Amino acid sequence: MIYRARHVVPMVGPPIENGAVVVAGDTIAAVGTWDGIRPAWAGEAEDLGEVILMPGLINAHCHLDYTGLRGALLRPESFAAWIQRINAVKRDLTEDDFLAAIEKGCTECINTGTTTVLNIESFPGLLPKMRRPPLRTWWFFELIDLRQTPPAEDIVSTAMNFLGQRPEWRGGVGLSPHAPYTASIELFRLSRAMARRHGLPVTTHIGESHEEQTMFADGAGPLFNFLRSVGRPMADCGNGRSSLRILAEAAAIGPETIIAHLNELPVEDEPLLQPHGFLHDISVVHCPRSHRYFSHRPFPMARLRALEVNVCLGTDSLASNQSLNMFEEMRAAREIFPEISPGEFIEMATTNGARALGLAGRLGVLRAGAQADLIAIRGGDGANLSERIIDHQGNVDWAVVSGVSVRMSAK
Ligand SMILES: [Zn+2]
Repeated sequence: MIYRARHVVPMVGPPIENGAVVVAGDTIAAVGTWDGIRPAWAGEAEDLGEVILMPGLINAHCHLDYTGLRGALLRPESFAAWIQRINAVKRDLTEDDFLAAIEKGCTECINTGTTTVLNIESFPGLLPKMRRPPLRTWWFFELIDLRQTPPAEDIVSTAMNFLGQRPEWRGGVGLSPHAPYTASIELFRLSRAMARRHGLPVTTHIGESHEEQTMFADGAGPLFNFLRSVGRPMADCGNGRSSLRILAEAAAIGPETIIAHLNELPVEDEPLLQPHGFLHDISVVHCPRSHRYFSHRPFPMARLRALEVNVCLGTDSLASNQSLNMFEEMRAAREIFPEISPGEFIEMATTNGARALGLAGRLGVLRAGAQADLIAIRGGDGANLSERIIDHQGNVDWAVVSGVSVRMSAK
């Protein structure tokens, strides 16, 4: 199938006017001008008209489990209070509620142009009860050992078997030791070892709140007090070191780790991220609207960019955001960081997410050999194409995942 569009934005090389993308099976076979492609490729062609054809977006941090919680939690007075509140709300929800939330979240993602989502899954046991998601989904199993040690090996092998028997499910399995305050160093190390053995990605929350920073560095603050009250051993706190440093020095995270948030980055930790630093190749996922909801301290965008760290964008969950729309996330990022060019925000929502997954050149781009995940949008009225993309409002007109056209459902 050949798709023709007024503009093709491949994310590798410049935009192509009157362009075309050839899709063969689940893969892109060629990208070029219509005049160059049409004579060289046989087969059916579909003219999409006056649209921008581009790679589907990659949401690098999401919790689909909480799609039902839009607007349910007021802005918290402290991060510790928010954690207690969401835990209380979760206790009242049933398995069916979570299944419905995941399905609703997938629909919202694909309708708004996201074709790949990195989803933290708190309930891996729900997987066999789910319908096939309409988009490429990585299920990162959340691991917490505050109260008891999870059967991590069993969870992973069950899930890998499950997905192995369902080749029509696009995406994969990953691991997510939740955060340094809910998962022990041992659990982080085990996750890393299992991920290496099975070739899985790992993501975790680090440096999300200032309370996390004061908990670890100073042994004080609301998060410290709350976790001590529920029986967490606190010997790793109050030694002047950040959670990032503690985990790095224990080799419990590594250059392959996808770190959500990192709103807190003490200057003394920067050498870890410098070229040749132990963590230089990490990816950091910024969630601008969730960041705003929590009133976190400024995200260290300029410092991370100076350190050449791979920065991606994510929505986080609807417990701290209003939508799963990555265009809105790009617009929020542009508002906060007007000095960054619009094209770079689109990279954060496409190519950088692919790099985080170790799939650079395979996802988030339109080029021969890449997965055929494409969207077409009309775009806003901005002066240049990147502006027009970021200004896109509402649902997308058209999407293809893995070469298959996705029927868009009404909002
Ligand atoms: Zn999260």
